[in-house]
Amino acid sequence: MSATFNFCAGPAMLPQAVMQKAQRELLDWNNMGTSVMEISHRSQEFIALTTQAEADLRQLMDIPLNYHVLFMHGGGRGQFSAIANNFLGNNGQALYLVDGSWSSAAVEEAKKLAGEDNIDTINIVEKSNGLNSVSIPELSTIDKDYRYLHYCPNETVDGIEIFDTVNSPWPVIADMSSNILSRKIDVSQFGLIYAGAQKNIGPSGLSIVIVRDDMLTLPSLPQSSIMDYKLAVKHASMYNTPPTFAWYLAAEVFAWLKASGGVEAVEQINIEKAQLLYQCIDDLSFYTSGVASLNRSRMNVTFQLVNPELDDLFLEEAKLAGLVALKGHRSVGGMRASIYNAMPIEGVIELVKFMQAFAKKHS
Ligand SMILES: *Cc1c(COP(=O)(O)O)cnc(C)c1O
Repeated sequence: MSATFNFCAGPAMLPQAVMQKAQRELLDWNNMGTSVMEISHRSQEFIALTTQAEADLRQLMDIPLNYHVLFMHGGGRGQFSAIANNFLGNNGQALYLVDGSWSSAAVEEAKKLAGEDNIDTINIVEKSNGLNSVSIPELSTIDKDYRYLHYCPNETVDGIEIFDTVNSPWPVIADMSSNILSRKIDVSQFGLIYAGAQKNIGPSGLSIVIVRDDMLTLPSLPQSSIMDYKLAVKHASMYNTPPTFAWYLAAEVFAWLKASGGVEAVEQINIEKAQLLYQCIDDLSFYTSGVASLNRSRMNVTFQLVNPELDDLFLEEAKLAGLVALKGHRSVGGMRASIYNAMPIEGVIELVKFMQAFAKKHS
């Protein structure tokens, strides 16, 4: 079988070395004669795994000691409701910045749980000359006692990324589902960071939550125990049976990242990969990008064929060349190449070669 490069936005490809290791030890993990899937989450061996996973993530992201690291159920969307439930009791209010599909979905969920009147929104995307860019207004002049400000620094569907820190008078909560561990960030700027695992960490279903200790004193709404941050902290993310196999794979991805030189090293490769692809889009009049250069996502490169009648042929021929899952999200159309940490630069080079050849053939 020739190489396949999988550009799926999520669940996304995992590092090949991790998948091969998982395959090797699927039936006999840690010399236990059984799969990691088939042992107690409270066994000494599994606890050693979770301790190592947390230590590795703390090291990779340089997480300060006054933050808890949680491994929870329910993916990214699970956290949309967990946040509202944990932080908006007694008519608590929050501000949501909206820059695309996922931040809009987070707003809908928060309104449903905390009431329309308690959720304010600001649309931070501007369109000029057909290009989307992000502009965050001065927030310090807003005279409101919000419990938190929520935003999504990488809009997976739209291909929009916010690289600047948000200066907020309120604790900042960030949905980093699709760009966590892709570049260095200063965790101390955030009240809470969360991420569904299936983009840059591991299998779907698992979500990672990094929460500052003082956030847990905010009043909460009635909620299910498994999504309660205080209970998750108290029980070390094992109030009930956690998704153990997903946790194991996440631990392997963290170990792989460390062995690859950590976040700074993969950030350099991510910059290179994104530049190669955007350069190709900009160089050829056959393709266009709808995102202004300062807000072009490094993880999800969205682009259009100037002649959309060729979309299906593009996807068909790409697939024959071993380049799969390039179709853009149905809400925006066009193409999307998701190039998370696990995508080797060779995959991007192959895609660029294909795009050049396709443009030449069909211009
Ligand atoms: C994928 C994604 C989600 C949703 O994750 P689920 O695990 O499907 O709930 C939320 N936010 C962002 C930014 C995403 O990319």
